Amino acid sequence: MPELETSLIPAFSDNYIYLLRDPATGTVAVVDPGAAEPVADALTARGWPLHLILVTHHHADHTGGNLALKERYGARILGPAADRNRIPGLDEGVAEGDTVRVGDAAARVIETPGHTSGHISFHFAESDALFCGDTLFSLGCGRLFEGTPSTMWQSLLKLRALPDETKVHCGHEYTASNARFALSVDGRNPDLIRRAAEIEELRTRGEPTIPASLGEEKRANPFLRADDPALAAALGMEADPVAVFATLRARKDAF
Ligand code: ZN
Ligand code: FE
Repeated sequence: MPELETSLIPAFSDNYIYLLRDPATGTVAVVDPGAAEPVADALTARGWPLHLILVTHHHADHTGGNLALKERYGARILGPAADRNRIPGLDEGVAEGDTVRVGDAAARVIETPGHTSGHISFHFAESDALFCGDTLFSLGCGRLFEGTPSTMWQSLLKLRALPDETKVHCGHEYTASNARFALSVDGRNPDLIRRAAEIEELRTRGEPTIPASLGEEKRANPFLRADDPALAAALGMEADPVAVFATLRARKDAF
């Protein structure tokens, strides 16, 4: 089966919106359209329609374009059933284990609460593509606005269980500042040092650091390594994953 075509649309100062197209059927979807205009411009440039809007969570920088795009293109809006009342224009609520189809391409819905209580992620296994909103960032994770450290850690473990080949499409270009924090807590990790150098090069050229490789994230992202005894030891802590994760998150919030 041909892979889903994905393209990245920058919005606001550091958001990423994603366009997805199934080449077999010509079905087009957008993930987290915080604004309508950059999406409409990208569709016009490609001569594409828009059939589906996929939403990871209710924040305005991920949903602000929902209503205008729905009206202009007649697109159907899918998002977390748990946040039915907080997603503008939602047509269909989805939950853990549901399948979402973009033409012939199928995504499994993974509930990933923590940043918000209803946050979901979309995993297109056959295309090795993950759309995880503000749950997992390259070398970081989302802030805990509506969840505990334990909730977010469980969500990150679900994402960490996906194959190394998975390409991580997250909601923001926060990678360079995440790298600075990660180096401050795990500065001797060779995988992190290598990724940080790559990030600096990409950002110097003005290029996105996304999609990230999930395999690399597993080795370099401290928020995915809270159960690594070496990281706990580097923080001077007992090997308690939730406590280590909570400490990482609190230190990042104050960084
Ligand atoms: Zn958010
Ligand atoms: Fe966001």
